[in-house]
Amino acid sequence: MTAFWTEEDYDDHELVQLIRDPASGLTAIIALHSTRLGPGAGGTRFWHYSEPKDAMRDALRLSRGMSYKNAMAGLPMGGGKAVILADPAGTKTPQMIHAFADAVERLGGRYVTAEDVGITEADMTMVAERTQFVSGLPVDGEDAAGGDPGPFTAMGIFHGIKAAVHHKLGKDSLEGVRIAIQGAGSVGGGVARLAAKEGAILTLSDIDEDRAAELADELDADTVAPDAIMSVACDVFSPNALGAILDDEGIARLDCAIVAGGANNQLKREHHGAMLAERGILYAPDYVINAGGIISVTLEYLCRHKGEPCDINEVRKRIAQIPGRLEEIWRESEATGVSPDRVADRMAQKLIGR
Ligand code: NAD
Repeated sequence: MTAFWTEEDYDDHELVQLIRDPASGLTAIIALHSTRLGPGAGGTRFWHYSEPKDAMRDALRLSRGMSYKNAMAGLPMGGGKAVILADPAGTKTPQMIHAFADAVERLGGRYVTAEDVGITEADMTMVAERTQFVSGLPVDGEDAAGGDPGPFTAMGIFHGIKAAVHHKLGKDSLEGVRIAIQGAGSVGGGVARLAAKEGAILTLSDIDEDRAAELADELDADTVAPDAIMSVACDVFSPNALGAILDDEGIARLDCAIVAGGANNQLKREHHGAMLAERGILYAPDYVINAGGIISVTLEYLCRHKGEPCDINEVRKRIAQIPGRLEEIWRESEATGVSPDRVADRMAQKLIGR
């Protein structure tokens, strides 16, 4: 048996906690990567892992990603993440959610949770029954920050795709730009709707094929099978499902000028960023382009704790800074010959003192 701290993905994480609650059947991991800039903030993933070590790997990589994401978004938060190990049927009960929330509460504010894949606003509301260290809760009215982070993440990605299209293709609009979207969930669906509004030509794919078909009907888009989306000839490939899809085989299949999407940890290994650059594909580092949701839930959290209302315009203003940050990374990458993912990592590491 290998110890997790000898794994490649362990990066001097400040805390990695296993939570077992036999009464509810909960097994979860909470990982805090760095709290240098503030409490570790990052969502909870509910997923069935066929190998438990994949859950540990996700917790380690995703929490480090959150340290980088929060730092690069200029938020006073560190990096944390939780994963709940679902059974094959995805059984989720209130008892399980409450047991998880109790574990968050016991950390006394060092970790602040929110939604991620497989976790809904209703789940977070249930978490809030047991702990105050939670965000992404339903909010009143359209002018309040917070709630489901998905639409804010999608908004940031949409702006980021536009910046990439401008940078790489010299176009100011998405009119006629071909975008292949992997994942038609909260984020992918939001990106698809915003891009369709601007006249992009969309190809969609989801392992839930009904979900992809329904969205395609709504947006007059095409669909392809999940194993075909990465080879679609397009201008932009937008990964909005799960991570580690940019590996040797995946990158070889790409037929696009740009990769820009919201999935966390898209690069399987560090050298895959350089591989994209060698192929002349412009990459928008995932944790920079997908920061919209964490910007919204963090402002919601900070305002709630100060007892102040939270203005959605502040969220929009900060999301609108994502393209500028990407531009800075791409320019630095072009000036130094270092791939954009490595440029972003170095900027983030400097911000968290590593
Ligand atoms: P979601 O659960 O709403 O949607 C994910 C979708 O991807 C689902 O429809 C699922 O069926 C589909 N999917 C899974 N594997 C697939 C595959 N191999 N091919 C095609 N489709 C597949 O989740 P979401 O909130 O939209 O998150 C999507 C990604 O974005 C995740 O990687 C998440 O970590 C990341 N992310 C989400 C947010 C947010 O605010 N929700 C913020 C930052 C990053």
